[in-house]
Amino acid sequence: MDLGIAGKWALVCGASKGLGFGCAQALVREGVQVLLNARGADGLQQAAEQLRAQAQAGAAAGGWALPQVLTVAADITTAEGRAAALSAPGGPGAALDIVVTNAGGPPPGDFRTWGRQAWLDALDANMLTPIELIRATVDGMAERGYGRIVNITSSAVKAPIDILGLSNGARSGLTGFVAGLARSPLAARGVTLNNLLPGRFDTDRLAATLHAAAARTGLSLQDERAAQQARIPAGRFGRPQEFGALCAFLCSLQAGYITGQNLLVDGGAYPGSF
Ligand code: NAP
Repeated sequence: MDLGIAGKWALVCGASKGLGFGCAQALVREGVQVLLNARGADGLQQAAEQLRAQAQAGAAAGGWALPQVLTVAADITTAEGRAAALSAPGGPGAALDIVVTNAGGPPPGDFRTWGRQAWLDALDANMLTPIELIRATVDGMAERGYGRIVNITSSAVKAPIDILGLSNGARSGLTGFVAGLARSPLAARGVTLNNLLPGRFDTDRLAATLHAAAARTGLSLQDERAAQQARIPAGRFGRPQEFGALCAFLCSLQAGYITGQNLLVDGGAYPGSF
């Protein structure tokens, strides 16, 4: 299916690896021009090179112009980082058609040990940064009649995890904000805003949490991995490519009637009907 977005411009944050990279990969495959962001310049360059190689094959298969793949090495949770992304040389400035917000998640822990600064950091990274990027781009999207915001949040928004209080709190704030904005007059002007809620996906972040879990349970890394996979009805962790494919669909022409939604992608791990 042609998603109808070849030639559009996307900013994909946290895109040098993991879920962000999966999203960028799926968009490039559809001929979307991407501005990739992450803090580490080396990882970002490697990701961009991989995507440029794939862009050629995608453009040949889809029959569209070769999409540009640009990079901005910056911390997107800072005002300077966001300004750099929105003024990257050769990029579209704030005239983006698609914005995928993403950054590292806050650390786990016991809320009794978190002071005000820990909360402010979590709110900055996982609530206020997406809101600032939305603020900078949605009115221009509405003027041009097309816009897609996809926020990478977490299944913890729907099924909070006790030790992830910072994530539960900050991401729920973003979720409430997006729910309201998605139903504003932007909806009639071609702009959709949705959240993607990953369960357990096979990324470096998951590998780090597996190490920590194995240290807690006393299981070997392999056994801890198997035990966690066994608790997921799908019997495995998700693949970033699967996540990216859904992100690209949400950014498509065909998804214009989907807005204000929280889409859980967790292999059936959440046990409820709704
Ligand atoms: P990952 O594999 O560790 O990748 C994170 C990406 O974000 C990297 O490219 C990293 O590159 C970049 N990044 C981190 N902080 C950044 C910042 N301040 N500014 C710009 N880029 C930044 O993580 P992931 O598994 O893809 O997770 C992505 C998000 O989904 C996280 O918020 C995570 O909490 C959430 N999530 C993941 C899972 C899962 O199972 N994987 C489950 C639930 C929620 P640099 O370090 O070079 O900046």
